[in-house]
Amino acid sequence: MGSYLDFYRRSIEAPEAFWAEQARLIDWERPFDAVLDASRPPFARWFVGGRTNLCHNAVDRHLATRADQPALVFESTETDQRRQYTYAQLHAEVNRTAAMLRSLGVKRGDRVIVYMPMVPEAVFVLLACARLGAIHSVVFGGFAAHSLAMRIDDAKPVLLVTADAGMRAGRVVPYKPLVDEALTLAKHPPARVLVLDRGLVPNSPVTPERDVDFATLGREHEGARVPVEWMESSEPSYILYTSGTTGKPKGVQRDTGGYAVALASSMRHIYTGQPGEVMFTASDIGWVVGHSYIVYGPLLNGMTTVLYEGLPIRPDAAVWWRLIEQYRVSVMFTSPTAIRILKKQDAAFLKRHDTSSLRYLFLAGEPLDAPTHAWISDALPSTQVLDNYWQTETGWPILGPVPGVEPRKRKLGSPGAAIYGYRVKLVDGLSGEEVTAANQKGVLVIQPPLPPGCLSTVWGDDARFVSTYFSSFDTPLYNTFDWATRDADGDYFILGRTDDVINVAGHRLGTREIEEAISGHPAIAEVAVVGVKDELKGQVVMAFAVPKDPARLQREEDRDALSREVMDTVGRTLGAVARPAAVYVVANLPKTRSGKLLRRSIQAVAEDREPGDLTTIEDPGALEGIQAALKARPPKA
Ligand code: AMP
Repeated sequence: MGSYLDFYRRSIEAPEAFWAEQARLIDWERPFDAVLDASRPPFARWFVGGRTNLCHNAVDRHLATRADQPALVFESTETDQRRQYTYAQLHAEVNRTAAMLRSLGVKRGDRVIVYMPMVPEAVFVLLACARLGAIHSVVFGGFAAHSLAMRIDDAKPVLLVTADAGMRAGRVVPYKPLVDEALTLAKHPPARVLVLDRGLVPNSPVTPERDVDFATLGREHEGARVPVEWMESSEPSYILYTSGTTGKPKGVQRDTGGYAVALASSMRHIYTGQPGEVMFTASDIGWVVGHSYIVYGPLLNGMTTVLYEGLPIRPDAAVWWRLIEQYRVSVMFTSPTAIRILKKQDAAFLKRHDTSSLRYLFLAGEPLDAPTHAWISDALPSTQVLDNYWQTETGWPILGPVPGVEPRKRKLGSPGAAIYGYRVKLVDGLSGEEVTAANQKGVLVIQPPLPPGCLSTVWGDDARFVSTYFSSFDTPLYNTFDWATRDADGDYFILGRTDDVINVAGHRLGTREIEEAISGHPAIAEVAVVGVKDELKGQVVMAFAVPKDPARLQREEDRDALSREVMDTVGRTLGAVARPAAVYVVANLPKTRSGKLLRRSIQAVAEDREPGDLTTIEDPGALEGIQAALKARPPKA
């Protein structure tokens, strides 16, 4: 084992040699001509001219050595189902699914929207898309029809794959009716919809000619073989939409070769899973963690991946630890919120099972507070609990420990130092000058070129890629939109977003998107949405809405009724994930004299802090009104 500092330096000082070495972790049908083309900054193309395929590397490549090893283990505590697929069986399923998609007209470069619950067929569809060279775009099942329609219109898919329903906490969550609604809202609806009927919703409505039954089509393609489409390394593999400061979600576009190399490399050096071992990532395929570490990462590495549909506390809070014991999981990945939920349960649940196989538990997506980190570390004595910091955009960690190269002592509250390949810096939020002194606050930026695996552009909008991420400062630096400090050891501490993005239980939500949804309610004149600190979820969404008719402010019943209507509007338009924890109906909103909403002051007041500099406030009474509303009805914990 070498020194991480040397490893990191090599990745920064000789990136081409470094990444050429990492590129050996995957198969190439044609070798690349150049490791990096950075001739058009800030765009970077990795492994130019090389041809490869994600499905080949995740599935076919392993047939020679591990055909009979489990590749995918599925457990649903919602439907009480259990299924296992060896690499040979996964290969057969993926081929069959690729044949099904092909029969519906899907070809290389086409987009396929995947709006599915956590079932093996969702994994087959992603890998089948990769096999065909089609670009998948998974939309998280918690998003509602309007959100889905926006993503459909941006991606212009030829096919949408869905299921009748998902299940959450024992309740059926219908998917297909939302799809039907989204397709009436969308301007570019796909011609075909492939529907997996799980038998959860009896008599699901069918649109003849458009809707195709998954099982029926599957029977027609039993035993099919579909050759792998070899992709040039920078051809897109998928689009994953994420929220920003505008109301329009951005399609994070991922390449093929760079992503495969970054993931394979991260599996070896960061996650340290050995081929043949088991990885359990408790997330959702709708999020980037699901793409990278439920589907592609473990399979690229020849591991068994555990796909779990259910909650961490059903049937009881021992369920995850039971899975760890049963499958001898060695690497687990989840969010701090999930651990905080478990922390509220009886600690005895953790002792009920043998978790000694678990070497590492990785946590990411939101700040990992020191008490939670300490609690779970104590509860799992044979496991190292490690924090990772990254974003949908990067696809794999930016900051964190690299135990496969050199184990480091954990530092509570910090994900750690820069990951190899990333030139991480802190800069002054206004001047863009580099902040070099220890423990000084700055904006966390990455000096381009971004390493392999990171977004190559915003789907269909190169200008937006440049203007969103590289135009905050005089020199083009990738902006993470996070504040951070760095201590004398080079370890970073993340302090929170610089923009109006809210992070609820590790899920990123844009304030603007939620405000737009609420403004769609006919009785609302204007609204401010802020993220407010929450013990369990990190942050929760809170909305302050001004009714058009001031009469609706008078009586408590009217205010309550309006607040419920606003919550339902958000649930219906954007989905349950974005539903505010509280909506306050108020007379007006604090703004600057130039009319800019003072979201930060509202947030401060909601968090019981001082509202900050109010010299530019137009009407101080507005903030007092908010204070009074919060006092009259403190938000429920
Ligand atoms: P997403 O793209 O939805 O994964 O959200 C990325 C954002 O989540 C980052 O920009 C951070 O604000 C936050 N985040 C992710 N991981 C961490 C972490 N380990 N510590 C603190 N914040 C994090």
